[in-house]
Amino acid sequence: APLFSAIEMAPRDPILGITEAFNADKNPNKVNLGVGVYYDDNGKVPLLACVQKAEAQLMEKASPRTYLPIDGIAAYDKAVQELVFGADSAVVQEKRAITVQALGGTGALKLGADFLKRFSPNAQVWISDPSWENHRALFEFAGFTVNNYPYYDATTRGVNFTGMLNALNEMPAGAIVVLHACCHNPTGADLTEDQWTQVIQVVTQRGLVPFLDMAYQGFGDGIEADGKVVRRFAEAGGPLFVSNSFSKSFSLYGERVGALSIVAVSSEEAARVLSQLKRVIRTNYSNPPIHGGQVVATALSAPELRKQWEEELAGMRVRIREMRQALVQNLKEKAPNHNFDFVIQQRGMFSYSGLTKAQVERLRNEYSIYAVDTGRICVAALNSRNIDAVVDAIAKVL
Ligand code: PLP
Repeated sequence: APLFSAIEMAPRDPILGITEAFNADKNPNKVNLGVGVYYDDNGKVPLLACVQKAEAQLMEKASPRTYLPIDGIAAYDKAVQELVFGADSAVVQEKRAITVQALGGTGALKLGADFLKRFSPNAQVWISDPSWENHRALFEFAGFTVNNYPYYDATTRGVNFTGMLNALNEMPAGAIVVLHACCHNPTGADLTEDQWTQVIQVVTQRGLVPFLDMAYQGFGDGIEADGKVVRRFAEAGGPLFVSNSFSKSFSLYGERVGALSIVAVSSEEAARVLSQLKRVIRTNYSNPPIHGGQVVATALSAPELRKQWEEELAGMRVRIREMRQALVQNLKEKAPNHNFDFVIQQRGMFSYSGLTKAQVERLRNEYSIYAVDTGRICVAALNSRNIDAVVDAIAKVL
């Protein structure tokens, strides 16, 4: 039979489908809460001042566009590694950590997945239930069987920690456990420090392979606080995989800037790991693009720009917090029989709002307010102009 004749249509991406429906909606008061993007109070994706300044500096130099090294810009890899682990951390000092530039957080996850499939082909992968919608498909396409460990508890609107810990305790040595380092997507429910202590203990004792996905550093409680889990895992020793992304924290979505870091038990082991990771990169896309990496390397390294980035990121974090407060406060007035206090405890861009699929459909059909069927809303898409309409609509569909 001809090559393409038996190919079925792939399922539509559930999140991108929402944006398509939103774009087609003619209602001038429509609101898209389905996205995974930070908008400012004017409903715009910000271009950070630190990015503009870094770009201006780079333009002045007008450098040629040669190929980058396979693992990216050395200054970028170094700056990211120090951001992720700390410049004076043992893993950095002892050269046990390696960091490569990657095409966003997704690219970092895919590099890690391909690397793991080569060197641990029989391991299985565990992701949280629920998780970022791309985790499962990404690891499955890399050739893995992907399982869920219990995570969200709809009754408490928090983490089913007993269920999670029990699942970890039953995994075989070598199992790959994908963990959200902070700002869990989609639920907004994170582990407490004490719960992380227990997770690190089980992971270490059982010889599991932790893969920390950090796509939202700085959106929870701050750059330091959000990165603490990664440092604690690193202190517990390798092996450890960390994917991190600057899509959100630098508002550089389309530039595809992220990194994969791997912690080994010795510098000699780390060197071997890096050499093999470079082959994974070489055979996929050879080497990463220049611009985004240069911008982030410049902004992280120049003290003035670094300070400005931290302030701008804090601004985004604070605005999201304010929107959480406003949502809860206004719903207290408009829907006094319902308790939304949990929304304030949640971290990051998202909230599992507790809205049912039927309620989400009513929001969309009757009020042109678009959320994900699971009830996930992007708090970072709320602003001082749309919050009243959103609250009114939610109160009416409850
Ligand atoms: N991991 C999680 C948990 C995410 O939410 C996202 C983006 O939404 C990513 C990874 C991917 O980030 P990037 O856009 O940098 O590929």
